[in-house]
Amino acid sequence: MEYAIARRRMVETQIMRRNITDPAVLDAMRKTPRHLFVAEGLRAHAYTDTSLPIGEKQTISQPFMVAAMSAALGLQGDERILEIGTGSGYQTAVLSSLVSRVYTIERISSLAGRARRIFDQLHLTNINLKVGDGTIGWKNHAPFDGIIVTAGAPEVPVEFLEQLAVGAPLIVPVGPRGCQVLLRVIRSEDGSYEREELMDCRFVPLIGEQGWQDNGD
Ligand code: SAM
Repeated sequence: MEYAIARRRMVETQIMRRNITDPAVLDAMRKTPRHLFVAEGLRAHAYTDTSLPIGEKQTISQPFMVAAMSAALGLQGDERILEIGTGSGYQTAVLSSLVSRVYTIERISSLAGRARRIFDQLHLTNINLKVGDGTIGWKNHAPFDGIIVTAGAPEVPVEFLEQLAVGAPLIVPVGPRGCQVLLRVIRSEDGSYEREELMDCRFVPLIGEQGWQDNGD
């Protein structure tokens, strides 16, 4: 009950006040129990306006960023979405209540295992999760109606562009380690890509074949 109150307050003060207005996104943020995706010792901080550590030098994203990236996809409800960087699984769970299916890839198997257990506990049955290098996408299930990347890339990985359906958006943080710009790239019918800068952001690095090298960060 206390968590539900904290969650409602989080939506009002951190998300609506920052001009996220999509009712479906606000509803998903109101009902997704972020406290289950953080370690027990951090649950008191689950609804604060910040990212939090989840182990393996990774983080659960700030609630506002999860809402903003979900809203940036411009969802109708029947999409198949690819997410790169499952992490805690929180963004995945928010998306699972907004779309018909979420495909999510995490490179660290312990995080993927933990996320999978929470999805099972919450009976989220429209999620396909795999462990691997997400920078090469998930060809077998492409094209996607949207792709969301929750780690910072040095540049836009070409595989993501190729795995987008026509008219579909890719939401991806791009820039140097520690400071990126969140981009929305939309695949047009004529084969070109429209690129728009949404906001400054700061994500952990996207590590892999089309990302950064793993140097222990
Ligand atoms: N949205 C997630 C959440 O709310 O918990 C945040 C994820 S965290 C900021 C980024 C995640 O991307 C980390 O778990 C990291 O291991 C993962 N990651 C980094 N490079 C990856 C890659 N090439 N493929 C898949 N996952 C990757």
